[in-house]
Amino acid sequence: MPLLLASLVAILCSSGCAGLQYSSTPNSNPPRRTFSIAIHGGAGVIDQATTTPEERDAFLDSLRTALDLGREELAKGGTALDACEIVVRFLEDDPQFNAGKGAVFTEAGTHELDASIMDGSNLKAGAVAGVRTVRHPIALARAVMEKTRHIMLTGEGAERFASEVGVERVENSWFDTPKRLESLQKELEKRRSGASVDAPSHYRGTVGAVALDTHGNLAAATSTGGMTAKKWGRVGDSPIIGAGTYANNKTCAVSGTGTGEQFIRHTIAKSIAANIEFRNMTAQQAAEAAVHGLLDPDDGGVIVVDRVGRIAMVFNTAGMFRAAADHHGRFEVGIWNQLTQAQPVGSSR
Ligand code: ASP
Repeated sequence: MPLLLASLVAILCSSGCAGLQYSSTPNSNPPRRTFSIAIHGGAGVIDQATTTPEERDAFLDSLRTALDLGREELAKGGTALDACEIVVRFLEDDPQFNAGKGAVFTEAGTHELDASIMDGSNLKAGAVAGVRTVRHPIALARAVMEKTRHIMLTGEGAERFASEVGVERVENSWFDTPKRLESLQKELEKRRSGASVDAPSHYRGTVGAVALDTHGNLAAATSTGGMTAKKWGRVGDSPIIGAGTYANNKTCAVSGTGTGEQFIRHTIAKSIAANIEFRNMTAQQAAEAAVHGLLDPDDGGVIVVDRVGRIAMVFNTAGMFRAAADHHGRFEVGIWNQLTQAQPVGSSR
């Protein structure tokens, strides 16, 4: 009997103990070949006329690389959770986006980062808000999900938890970039001159990913620096489950980007899932109903993957940095209306 037990442990470890730092949720479904992934890098006033070809290509290259990392993870049978975390970590390190390095500045000239992740197979979720020294807030959100009984940790408590689990730390000024400093200065100048603080700011750059893996599980992840010149302690939708992030194997996975207060008010991510579950809508219809029916024009957009892998990417801003791939070979990136088929980066990386 002890021998049998030992063999069982050995088999379980050989199939499940290797891999990323945090093990994934066990799946009971036999592997299928189908997978889908969609990612975003924020929505907003992305002016086609003033974006130079170099700027555009730099964004598209980064999206392609991020998408390919997620696609490869899914293609080799990895979990949706790992694929989403890998994509978001990559984009957090890219200063072009408003998450991790390159996060926007608060009114006080600091950075306060929010992130969340959700596992659609068991409705477990983890979130952090107002963290200041964590290089990859999404990794800390995942640790909250997997190593605590809680869903969200904020500010000082989240920082203490970061020390406990040993995620990578940086000085708050490490997140600084000249582009975001310029945006802060412009925003503060606009306010001094009496302009409305609600006017849509330049593109924002929150990042997110949603995925269906070959085991039939869905996951969603979102990470952001929030809104330029936000006030002390302001928390947006990105770390709020049901607002900026949601995943449930019964329906879909959603990650949103845009005016966080609006996403919270209308529980955008959960509304999309509810429209699929209770009103029989497709992912596309549900995303359109939320973005065009609940949000105001210029508020933002969402990416959605449903339980059979259908992808919707809907926004009501001038543009949304986005990309999508699946097991059929779809591999598309886009900023404005059109998506273009691109080459996976794969071995060139
Ligand atoms: N939704 C984010 C927030 O409100 C910002 C964004 O997506 O651009 O914090």
